[in-house]
Amino acid sequence: MLQKIEGIVLRASSYGETDKIVTIFSRELGKRAAMARGAKKPTSRLSSISQPFTYAYFLVQQGRGMGTLQQGEIIDSMRSIREDIFTTAYASFIMELVDKLIDDESPKPHLFTILQQALQAISEDYDPEAISLFVEWKLLPTAGIYPVLHQCSNCGATDGEFAFSFSQIGFLCHRCFSIDPYLIRLTPSQVKLIRTFYTVPIDQVGKLTLKKETKGFIKKIIRTIYSEQVGIRLKSQGFLDQMDKTPEFYTPKKDPSIEE
Ligand SMILES: [Zn+2]
Repeated sequence: MLQKIEGIVLRASSYGETDKIVTIFSRELGKRAAMARGAKKPTSRLSSISQPFTYAYFLVQQGRGMGTLQQGEIIDSMRSIREDIFTTAYASFIMELVDKLIDDESPKPHLFTILQQALQAISEDYDPEAISLFVEWKLLPTAGIYPVLHQCSNCGATDGEFAFSFSQIGFLCHRCFSIDPYLIRLTPSQVKLIRTFYTVPIDQVGKLTLKKETKGFIKKIIRTIYSEQVGIRLKSQGFLDQMDKTPEFYTPKKDPSIEE
């Protein structure tokens, strides 16, 4: 059966001398692996569509085992992402996170939209660090985490001062601060920002620019949730941390942190 699917290449690995195995996250079918015969040859018509981040319509011949990629029609090659070390690193991190969080072949159209919008935003020169943070917050429900951010997670109050609690995975109001000795106090603008990261669709964030320290703060919270509650740490995170620590070793296309 020949199937046309709308998808994004999550990863591609070498197989033998000339072939590749391409893992495609599709809107219709979820995650699928397909054999791309001859895709390692630069002259192959499958070579450009089997590159990570490529957004395309794929024609896949489904057999009993793994499908075979027949051809593709590129919607967006996302080439600009691959041309820069920073955008490549952040986009790879997003791909690895999506790949880790989906392990079956059931469709996840909402997640597909998040991924597609994130790659689009990065290829349009939005701050890749901020975009990856948006993705991390929005993927929490996919990881089985439902943070309570619209009210106090203990008493339900919507007014007062707030803090973030890792034990509650959500906000606590000042009346309930005593139930978690390790909470992180938040300013009203930090409360608003965390809600924005979690709830506002990426294509509606517009030209939101964030200071390096603001991103650092948001990152500390979300990474703690992923490492302690979800229990995953990604390979590509090591490289991002290294870039953060020694930025002088890497030359970005432009400074991704724009001051407010
Ligand atoms: Zn409360």
